[in-house]
Amino acid sequence: MNTEIIKIDENNIDKDADLALQRAGRILREGGLVAFPTETVYGLGGDAANAESSRKIYAAKGRPSDNPLIVHIYRTEDLYELTEELPETALRLAKAFWPGPLTMIIKKSPFIPLQTTGGLETVAVRMPSNKIAAKLIEYAGGFVAAPSANASGRPSPTVAKYCIEDLDGKVDMIIDGGAVGIGLESTIVDLTVDTPMILRPGYITEDMLRDVLGEIDVDKTIIDSSSKEKPKAPGMKYRHYAPKGDLTIVEGKPEDVVEYINGQTAAAREKGLRTGVIASHETVAMYKADSIMDAGSKEDEETVARQLFMILREFDDLGTDVIYSESFDTSGIGQAIMNRLLKAAGQHIIRV
Ligand code: AMP
Ligand code: MG
Repeated sequence: MNTEIIKIDENNIDKDADLALQRAGRILREGGLVAFPTETVYGLGGDAANAESSRKIYAAKGRPSDNPLIVHIYRTEDLYELTEELPETALRLAKAFWPGPLTMIIKKSPFIPLQTTGGLETVAVRMPSNKIAAKLIEYAGGFVAAPSANASGRPSPTVAKYCIEDLDGKVDMIIDGGAVGIGLESTIVDLTVDTPMILRPGYITEDMLRDVLGEIDVDKTIIDSSSKEKPKAPGMKYRHYAPKGDLTIVEGKPEDVVEYINGQTAAAREKGLRTGVIASHETVAMYKADSIMDAGSKEDEETVARQLFMILREFDDLGTDVIYSESFDTSGIGQAIMNRLLKAAGQHIIRV
């Protein structure tokens, strides 16, 4: 399949860009696939009401078909099409955080086929704030199923280049809208249980949700690397975000971490392996390795979040064999950063 690649500037959706988005919307209504930017990561869109479109999404990504897709809408009132039992909490959360990086799980109506929800009777819904995404969803008829636009298992794309790398030839169109703002996928909160529960941490933090809901639980498996329980979001059980190199997280006092990692990279380099380090801005100058990436200051989690997936992809581009990463604090957005980093490392963390 020939994949059309178009560029659109989110801050200047002129007449030509609008026409291109109308065309992209038509592709989706006719059952095709379009990758597009959102504020979190790039998404791979298909018509959420069309079982065949969802099947195509799974095939293009190589995604296991029991891993449900998030349905993207562009206005809150469309929630009523997706469910016959809208919890009052959903409206409160929508008012506080939509459009934005929050996904809610609610009971699904027959409008959404089981192929879109991985066989579940619930549906995940989000309203993105990215203007390209919002227009595309509107032109597509209002309901776009969109997982992250990467091949299953690889880090989510935060720039179009990596969508192209994974999906060129497998989808009808890729919209290049530049670098995303947040860099980690949405927070997922389950509203079908008595006390709402975070199934995947993200930019909207536990504290922010508690402020609106009063009470909130967190799926324990999210950042506990030793938990044997099954995560409640089906997708969270799969190996994810993995770079091609072997990634290990090292936790401890900064000076001990630097010493340990430098010892490991020196030994690996002697064996002829290409080494890499993910460091914080504070310690980046202290490492010795083939490629040392500054993820941002430990005080600036937003920057670390935005850069993480990009850094993992860059190590792939460089052919890095072994990668060591510092550990990050798990408060606030740090919970999401450590959740993704642990998954990328296959839960491999060493305490020194
Ligand atoms: P992605 O689209 O790559 O961001 O992945 C979507 C995530 O949402 C996966 O972890 C899914 O398991 C999760 N998800 C989607 N729908 C549901 C649902 N109905 N119940 C629980 N988790 C869901
Ligand atoms: Mg994904």
